[in-house]
Amino acid sequence: MPLTTACVVRLGVNNQTMALDQKLVATITEILGPNGVITDAGDMAPYLHEERGLAESSADLVARPANTSEVSEVVRACAASKTPIVPVGGSTGLVGGTLASGGVLLATDRLIKIIEVDALNNTMTVEAGCILAELQNAAAEQNCLFPLSLGAEGSCRIGGNLSTNAGGVGVLRYGNTRDLVLGLEVVLPSGEIWDGLSALRKDNTGYDLKQLFIGAEGTLGIITKAVLKLFPAPRTTITVMAALPELEAILKLFDATRQLCGDRLTAFELISRIGVELGMAHIPGVIDPFEAEHPYYALIELTSPRENDDLRSEIETVLEKAFEANIVTDAVFAESDAQRQELWKIREEIPAAQTREGGSIKHDISVPVSQTVAFITAASKQVSDALPGIRPCPFGHIGDGNIHFNLTQPEAMTKADFMAQAEEFTRIVYDLVVEMKGSISAEHGIGAFKREELEHYASATKINLMRSIKQALDPENLMNPGKVVS
Ligand SMILES: Cc1cc2nc3c(=O)[nH]c(=O)nc-3n(C[C@H](O)[C@H](O)[C@H](O)COP(=O)(O)OP(=O)(O)OC[C@H]3O[C@@H](n4cnc5c(N)ncnc54)[C@H](O)[C@@H]3O)c2cc1C
Repeated sequence: MPLTTACVVRLGVNNQTMALDQKLVATITEILGPNGVITDAGDMAPYLHEERGLAESSADLVARPANTSEVSEVVRACAASKTPIVPVGGSTGLVGGTLASGGVLLATDRLIKIIEVDALNNTMTVEAGCILAELQNAAAEQNCLFPLSLGAEGSCRIGGNLSTNAGGVGVLRYGNTRDLVLGLEVVLPSGEIWDGLSALRKDNTGYDLKQLFIGAEGTLGIITKAVLKLFPAPRTTITVMAALPELEAILKLFDATRQLCGDRLTAFELISRIGVELGMAHIPGVIDPFEAEHPYYALIELTSPRENDDLRSEIETVLEKAFEANIVTDAVFAESDAQRQELWKIREEIPAAQTREGGSIKHDISVPVSQTVAFITAASKQVSDALPGIRPCPFGHIGDGNIHFNLTQPEAMTKADFMAQAEEFTRIVYDLVVEMKGSISAEHGIGAFKREELEHYASATKINLMRSIKQALDPENLMNPGKVVS
């Protein structure tokens, strides 16, 4: 079976690149006007971007509707001519979810209105094309927090976040994107509009339909608007990086921090030594904040809505006990926002640094939090036994059990030779994940790259249920074909 990122991506209904009917081009141009349609290959290029450069995408037309009824009309026109549609947000997805093989790309970059921020209801109603960072800023202007936060927040769009059920660094405290939504508006594959834009915190009127579309990666319809939950803005933040003597220390420190700090603990990230070294080697501005080298680090952030809350003494108490128990060997506190950014930069730049180092085989996996250390230990041993010199670089949201178990090529090997073995290493890693009752996709989704993997590891019952849902909503398989489930 072909595996993950190196696989041949099968997208279309019959894997054929199709030429678009000129009548459909004319109809869509009539619906959207000339500003809403791109057919020039050069102008289409940004919408065909594949973040990891692992596959080529092609389209006959990019449609850029400016409101929900335009989305609906374009979808109806495509449905009538049985033309596939691929929704595109910020194109920062990491699993080939926006790859197209001809047909129409429907871009949300003109659906950018923040319709309402209701600070009393603690909600925000927005269009799907809003950039995540702009929503965070709009919430902050009303002294509120929209807590979804990830490395791509300056360019990903909320419709993409919803469709991938994005995770990020705030999941420990606030949950995944799925937990941050009260209502949705969706254009179904028929073109019909489902108005589920509820701003209610309690609504037990049958199936929770919005959850079907969240995480569906555009295979069941196009999300056009959302009602998002807001939270009190943090007024005190403390960020600390703790150096650990060994991997086993991380869960002990996590447990101690959570016990003492409760839900003020907002982020708890694992960084390994190789992550720091690759960052320093390849990314300007990444520095090692410690004088000595340490094998592992925890990046910890506490926040509170209270002004001048004494978070510092809380975390100092945790760290003092941890020093005494030999769980922590050193720690640095961010004393300013600039220093906070420096600490986060070490964590956020690891994937880019790995890519610049050469061949990198990436796995976004989760296991129960209690199993994370056992997983990293066993997986590192298994891949090292298979290829001496391979450099495992585990990092990520360990407080959620989500580890980016990435493998950097041995120094004395070509990138091509290393990447040719991607299947073998991915099989080792995923087999172990499944044995430990984990997930082969913690937060990035399935898209095109992991579809066959999902079919390999998921039960037949799960796959059949997913196919039944797809068939019920999109019987012609026109909405983002070839993604998630075949
Ligand atoms: C530097 C970097 C850091 C990242 N960090 C994280 C992280 O910490 N956590 C995490 O979860 N992800 C992370 N990602 C992955 C990515 O940012 C997320 O998956 C993000 O949610 C994708 O949003 P997007 O707007 O770019 O979506 P796109 O890439 O445009 O699309 C993603 C999927 O959603 C579908 N889609 C897009 N818009 C809609 C819509 N309106 N309706 C229906 N379907 C739609 C697309 O068809 C596709 O299947 C990171 C990526 C990068 C490059």
